[in-house]
Amino acid sequence: MKKLLIKNGKVISPADGLNGELDILVIDGKIEEIGSELEDKEAEIIDAAGKVVTPGLIDMHVHLREPGFEHKETIETGTKAAAAGGFTSVACMPNTDPVIDNASIVESVINKAEFEGKVNLFPIGSITKKLEGEELSEIGYMNEAGIVGISDDGETVMNSEMMRLALDYVKAFDLPVLTHAEDQVLSGDGVINEGYYSTVTGLDPIPAAAEDIIVARDIRLAELTDSRLHITHVTTKRAVELVRDAKERGVKVTAEVTPHHFTLTDEAVLTFDTNTKVNPPLRSEEDVTALKEGLADGTIDAIATDHAPHAFEEKNVEYNYAPFGISGLETALPLVITELVKPGIISLEEAIEKLTINPAQILNLDRGRLKEGSKADITVLDLDEEYEVDVDEFYSKGKNSPFDGFKLLGRPKATIINGEVVMKDNQVL
Ligand SMILES: [Zn+2]
Repeated sequence: MKKLLIKNGKVISPADGLNGELDILVIDGKIEEIGSELEDKEAEIIDAAGKVVTPGLIDMHVHLREPGFEHKETIETGTKAAAAGGFTSVACMPNTDPVIDNASIVESVINKAEFEGKVNLFPIGSITKKLEGEELSEIGYMNEAGIVGISDDGETVMNSEMMRLALDYVKAFDLPVLTHAEDQVLSGDGVINEGYYSTVTGLDPIPAAAEDIIVARDIRLAELTDSRLHITHVTTKRAVELVRDAKERGVKVTAEVTPHHFTLTDEAVLTFDTNTKVNPPLRSEEDVTALKEGLADGTIDAIATDHAPHAFEEKNVEYNYAPFGISGLETALPLVITELVKPGIISLEEAIEKLTINPAQILNLDRGRLKEGSKADITVLDLDEEYEVDVDEFYSKGKNSPFDGFKLLGRPKATIINGEVVMKDNQVL
């Protein structure tokens, strides 16, 4: 019998109404007891005094690059980065090579994660075959194989009838459709947000309207089909308003925002550092303010990284030629604490909700809670540790982060999966 006792931490689990100094006893991978002054002489002890103990963090949007792009990241390195970042579960997007568009690839990803993964891995299948937007993927078979949602992330399903079909079809499986909302004709060859900084840099612009239009369309289609729609990486003021309005009308829509989009504005591109090149692009001050308001009033349900690692030589080119994306798993929690919790934009409980129970509910995962009998996926956080980001310390192969050298407050200190400590004091074990 393997026992673990987490003592004296401030235990916060919004879904269970927990917020106070408590101990957690774990036996054989399950939470046995949550209470005061628990003792067990045989248990390994984690002293969490002065720290916060939460359900294991869940990142519902990562790119692990395997199969096909192992030079950028693998299931092994990506899940190590997740563990280092305090995440116990991640959902991976299907834009691999081959694309995750059939059951056998879903199975191979799940098998590989079982042997090589450090954290729980939940694959997302594609909406259309090869992300081409022309023919639905084998959604039913992929569902049997274990997908938790469908998405053509990286690409938009530009054909509205195809998107309607997908939304209709997933209802039988209670899967969400995760939309990458970008009118790709309108965004064209754009690389940064359209506005003052696209004018001064001369870089090709992507208008905010490219996002707003597809968010509006997909909300309307979710309404038409009465199906579950999740909008990935929301970045514009108008998109936040559209989601807020749709929720008020009872449309089954949820939304996520990334740490880089609530932290940086498009002013960051003045450096021409390709680590500021993300899709959707960094937006204006006004948009960032709207994202924060959306986080605060519950319009935005989840915080997800859109972890998009690339090799150094791929990003070390002219701005126009660099691929979009940043390596996000290992800076997410410190950015949430520093940018949202410490300034009082959202409470710590709300931040934990958006990193645990809310993504779990969107993807129908039996996770995100701390209760007796549940799987012992637990994260321990230090809210006060000062931390200077050093990309060379990342476990991710992707060192592509605009936050290198940033001084942040707050850091994950332990990641526990099924009662196993997989990260302690910033070392993945
Ligand atoms: Zn993505």
